Amino acid sequence: RFSNALKSIARNQEIKRSVQNSKELYPLLKNGINRFVAGQTRKEGIERVSHLYSKGYQVSLEFIGENTISESECRLAKSEFIEIIKELGANQIRGTVCLDLSHIGMMISSSLAYSHLEEVAIAAQENDINLILGMEESDKTNKILSIYKDISKIHTNVGITLQVHLHRSLSDLKELLRLPGKIRLVKGAYQEPAEISIPRSEELNERYIEFTSMCIENEHPISIATHDEHLLMDLKARGLLTSLNTEVEMLDGVCPSLLKTLKEEGIQTKVYVTYGTEWYLYLVHRIAEYPQNIYTFITDIIEQ
Ligand code: FAD
Repeated sequence: RFSNALKSIARNQEIKRSVQNSKELYPLLKNGINRFVAGQTRKEGIERVSHLYSKGYQVSLEFIGENTISESECRLAKSEFIEIIKELGANQIRGTVCLDLSHIGMMISSSLAYSHLEEVAIAAQENDINLILGMEESDKTNKILSIYKDISKIHTNVGITLQVHLHRSLSDLKELLRLPGKIRLVKGAYQEPAEISIPRSEELNERYIEFTSMCIENEHPISIATHDEHLLMDLKARGLLTSLNTEVEMLDGVCPSLLKTLKEEGIQTKVYVTYGTEWYLYLVHRIAEYPQNIYTFITDIIEQ
């Protein structure tokens, strides 16, 4: 209940604006924020992924943003993603760039999002970079999947995130398995009505295992994106973490020692790094899904 309340408060536009626009707040909270977000600039994002890549992790990088309603800001976001791709390419980092379609135009129209996505996908192809689309609230799922289906027929370097907690996801998965792009399996970060979703539970974990098995049986590229140690150990015991085209992916700053252990065992591991001035909602999600993070956050700030 605490998590859901926190996520709802965080979505209040006035609170979000005043936190993010405050010039005084960011320096004050910087150390707490930096555990989960590389910084506000592209340079900080690239530095963080370069560091992780040099340590033997695969990397994903996202310029944070969502629900962008101004066309010029959508264009700027699209250009920023292209710049990230060029810089990763120039640094010989064969990474993944992640984006939410509502950040690059979907709030205005699907055709705008598609045309921006296509430009980003072309730049990615030229630089040997993969893209993965994030999955957003359930009222956007149809639109996101539809854009993904269109782009993936042309650009096989684009993949998609699937939220295991939605009831509809089993039939979505069957369709996605027919397309070439990587499928990133997540439990789901958004608060969804009980009629359409499964809460955190053993049932959800079993479903996660079932989805993973389906991808692996189909030899489909998959990212196992969870920090749930119990679930990961279960997947490992079933031999599902070492298949070809399989990686375990975690958010930067969340359970790093667990990911390191898996890497040392020879499992392909990936860290998801974020940067940007829209850090606030991202940070609140990390605290809401694991409220103990509030203590770490405060300790980081005090020790700053
Ligand atoms: P949970 O069942 O939530 O937690 C299990 C255990 O994991 C906890 O007990 C705790 O030990 C640990 N843990 C989980 N979260 C944290 C945390 N923040 N801090 C510390 N420990 C934690 N969701 C979407 O809806 N759309 C997306 O596009 C999307 N992309 C993602 C990309 C990546 C690479 C990852 C890793 C997650 C993404 N998510 C996305 C978020 C995801 O849906 C979950 O909300 C999030 O991963 C928490 O769920 P969990 O599977 O880790 O396990």
